[in-house]
Amino acid sequence: MKDDYEDKVRDERAAVQELQAQLRPRFKDLPHDVTLILLTRSGKNDLFTEATRFLIRVIREVAPRITLREYDLDHEVAKSWEADRAPTLLFDPDRYRIRWLGAPIGEEARTFIEALLMMGRRQTNLSEQSLKVLKGIDSPRHIKLFVSPSCPYCPQQGVNALKAAIEKPDMVSLEIIDIQANPDLADQYAAQSVPQAFANETLIAQGAQPEELFLLSLEKLEPQTVFIPESDAEEVNTDLVIIGGGPAGLTAGIYSARSGLRTVIVERDTLGGQVATTPVVENYPGLTQVGGKALVDLMVSHALEYVNIFPGEEVMDIQPRDPIVVLTNRRRFIAKAVLLATGASHRRLDVPGESRLSGHGVSYCSTCDGPLFRKKKVVMVGGGNSAVTEALHLHNLDVDITLVHRKDTLRAQEHLTKSLFANQIPVLLNTEIKEVRGKDRVEEIVLYNNQTGKKTTMAVNGVFIAIGYAPAVELAQKTGIELTPEGYIKHDSRHRTNIPGIYSAGDVEGGYKQIVTAAGQGAEASMAIFEDLVNPYWKSQERAESAAPQT
Ligand SMILES: Cc1cc2nc3c(=O)[nH]c(=O)nc-3n(C[C@H](O)[C@H](O)[C@H](O)COP(=O)(O)OP(=O)(O)OC[C@H]3O[C@@H](n4cnc5c(N)ncnc54)[C@H](O)[C@@H]3O)c2cc1C
Repeated sequence: MKDDYEDKVRDERAAVQELQAQLRPRFKDLPHDVTLILLTRSGKNDLFTEATRFLIRVIREVAPRITLREYDLDHEVAKSWEADRAPTLLFDPDRYRIRWLGAPIGEEARTFIEALLMMGRRQTNLSEQSLKVLKGIDSPRHIKLFVSPSCPYCPQQGVNALKAAIEKPDMVSLEIIDIQANPDLADQYAAQSVPQAFANETLIAQGAQPEELFLLSLEKLEPQTVFIPESDAEEVNTDLVIIGGGPAGLTAGIYSARSGLRTVIVERDTLGGQVATTPVVENYPGLTQVGGKALVDLMVSHALEYVNIFPGEEVMDIQPRDPIVVLTNRRRFIAKAVLLATGASHRRLDVPGESRLSGHGVSYCSTCDGPLFRKKKVVMVGGGNSAVTEALHLHNLDVDITLVHRKDTLRAQEHLTKSLFANQIPVLLNTEIKEVRGKDRVEEIVLYNNQTGKKTTMAVNGVFIAIGYAPAVELAQKTGIELTPEGYIKHDSRHRTNIPGIYSAGDVEGGYKQIVTAAGQGAEASMAIFEDLVNPYWKSQERAESAAPQT
């Protein structure tokens, strides 16, 4: 027992030392001081306060420019800043109007570190396009951004909001609200999915957005889905553009850069694709059991050794000429080849109430939103590996979970279903959800038993949906790429599509949808691309065709 404890302490110390070694060079020559003010109250959210103090202490040991002052919420200082929640963290309050309600831990530690670096450098690196949008904001915006330490999408949106508040402190103020420390606020705003952003009390974004789209949503005070870059967007010349930073895209990046191709990866959401939101992976060779996010971190840092990654950037258009032009929301790439590794995104139930209550009790990400439903009643819809894994994950978070599946047996692997029954998680078979009801949040669902034909209602606080993934083929279709009858990208054995110079890999091709198969296809496709660029297949085929006898 004592040995276990000593091992744990030793491991923790080693982890802190490793983190400090990574942070030291980044904080070493920070040109400006950053003052943090931590407002606390003993007995209120003590665990969150302790975690915040610990993180700041670890950072301050390698960052001499960061200072910390701490006051009780009753102190005049707290009152002068109108703070009434513990813990509240104010960032350089004489300069910025940015506060964090809760603890910047877990995934959020990344946002916190970026915040300190941007403030210490007084530099946000907002893109030219974003700066233009921000300049257009001429009346105050008060942002409330709901985040959670277990949400891999949150740092991207957190950094977007911070950039706006740092660049334009006279106009933009920001509260980052940790839902675990402030469940009452999440409840008040019906923010049951993270990240979720409000500005001037209006919902402006659900989920993470590319930087320009976030700023456009902030300017217009309503959710925006399209950002058209101005024609003077930056131009990047390269050999290969990989679209998608999941296992297929990341692996392809490593292989193609190692074979000497100038390669970029463009990713619109969270690096790692579907793996980033997978609670646990148990079938990746060499790692008996690993968190999806931990596996992504390993893959991304490996890929970064070789390849330039453009995160938070969405490919909007591909112009298949020679060379190929790829347009994102931020710039234009001129490339010899393009690899579509766009993967898949979650399938919807398509029942009344689902879209309207999405983010208000309807969720597709148990890793992100699960903590909001602790001790609440929730259904998980689906019968495959994902649904059962996520049901087990929610059960471990102390969520009152019931699995609902429309067939008479579950499709999930045996060891998962055994675990489901061992944990006594109720399962409703032959049951479909016909409607999700509620005024501004999920209140009840309508269930239909397809054996008896009987309809019933069930009072629930949340509906998690894991009924599979649909291939992300919108961009391929827009570009004129042929699909299979099942809706996947049609390709030959070397991952070539029907358009010269454009290839595919991973879940978007159909077949087995696994991390190792996606990675394998990414590797195969990049080797085929290299060989085709060295010995142009399309050109030799064109030559063969033009030399063929005319009939
Ligand atoms: C809950 C869950 C659990 C799973 N568990 C396992 C498991 O235990 N073991 C296993 O082997 N597999 C598991 N899988 C499956 C595995 O995660 C996928 O097979 C794998 O991630 C596919 O990789 P991919 O690179 O093809 O696509 P994805 O992982 O889907 O990545 C595609 C990426 O492309 C990006 N993208 C799409 N369009 C654009 C655009 N226009 N511009 C820029 N970027 C774009 C997306 O944002 C995404 O990040 C699981 C999946 C889920 C959802």
